[in-house]
Amino acid sequence: MKIVIVGAGLAGPLLAQGLHRAGITVELYEREAADQHSQGYRISLDPEGDLALRSCLPSDRYERILATAGKRGTGVRFLDPQLHVVREMLVPPRADEDVHGRHLTVDRLTLRKILLTGIDVHHGASFQRFELLDDGRVRTYFDDGAVTDADLLVAADGTHSRIRAQWLPDAEVIDTGQAEIYGKTALTDEIRALTPDAALDGFSVIAGTDGRFMSLAAHEFASGDGDDYVMWVVAAPTATVPADLSAMDKQQLQKIAMKLIVDWPENLAALVRHADSESVHNTTMRTAKPLPHWATGPVTLMGDAIHTMIPAGSSAATALRDAALLCRRITERTGSLRDAVHAYETEMLDYGFAMVERSLRSIT
Ligand SMILES: Cc1cc2nc3c(=O)[nH]c(=O)nc-3n(C[C@H](O)[C@H](O)[C@H](O)COP(=O)(O)OP(=O)(O)OC[C@H]3O[C@@H](n4cnc5c(N)ncnc54)[C@H](O)[C@@H]3O)c2cc1C
Repeated sequence: MKIVIVGAGLAGPLLAQGLHRAGITVELYEREAADQHSQGYRISLDPEGDLALRSCLPSDRYERILATAGKRGTGVRFLDPQLHVVREMLVPPRADEDVHGRHLTVDRLTLRKILLTGIDVHHGASFQRFELLDDGRVRTYFDDGAVTDADLLVAADGTHSRIRAQWLPDAEVIDTGQAEIYGKTALTDEIRALTPDAALDGFSVIAGTDGRFMSLAAHEFASGDGDDYVMWVVAAPTATVPADLSAMDKQQLQKIAMKLIVDWPENLAALVRHADSESVHNTTMRTAKPLPHWATGPVTLMGDAIHTMIPAGSSAATALRDAALLCRRITERTGSLRDAVHAYETEMLDYGFAMVERSLRSIT
């Protein structure tokens, strides 16, 4: 049996690890070059994410993730533009974390490096299209000329999934009309002094009444061994930002982000001004619309490729949960591969879209 996975973000490598460990032939394809590091920021993982990592990874790699995680904050705080805390959701450590999973904050670059350890990745291979074969298998074509046949093609190619577009052309992903510019600022003493306390002790969201908000969170490596930083995201209604944001260079994006919060306390714009311009990116907030289960075939999907959701701190853990569940259904199957995939899809669609729904409730 051979399984092809497209997308080496989070879910893709975790599934590859789990299948590889079970002795199943797996090929992982990624459009980015091996030395391209466009995916660096702090992410918080729900306990489901911790459990998923634990179930698929060899113990040394899992332990490495714990050892390189960020200092744990006390929770999430919502602030008004005058930086008064208006609401807080504290997340105290639980005694039973070993059983039920722990909340983790991780540096995405570090996590990916660990997830990609010990597995081969075909870098620089962008998925182009697939073809269903008469024998029930699937043939996948890549932009670099690579062609590969498999029993199962797994889409882990994120929000703009090209595989979803071909396999489920009716699946809809909606732009919520919110533009985001994000980046990282090295956590020097000067930056620490500029950073609101709430962002040094967990995740913080400064929300205006006009649709603007800024998320801020420090990432301090718990081991003391890493380059600590503050991650920031400045978001505003798309109608209030220049239409050609995607065509702008990183310095221009940085300037726009500062301009968007120019009437907020000066230290916030200063955090953006001091950012490493290379880390600055822009995106738009998107959410997937629930869809009925399709006829299971030799193509399936995981993570943002199927249930992308607006940022509410759960999408990465849900993507990892998909990988762990699909891995388990395949490796522990007693029937056909198709039945195992069907069982995975049924369960994943249920909790995945429940999380999408929950993320939407978090902003209303
Ligand atoms: C600034 C920011 C902060 C975030 N913070 C959090 C957080 O705190 N908590 C949280 O839960 N989530 C967070 N997220 C969201 C989280 O990163 C995603 O939900 C998660 O990465 C989804 O994982 P995935 O594996 O499904 O897809 P992705 O991580 O998006 O990976 C998709 C991969 O597929 C590759 N790819 C795409 N197209 C192709 C193609 N055609 N051919 C080959 N490869 C392709 C991409 O290059 C990428 O490597 C954040 C996102 C951003 C932008």
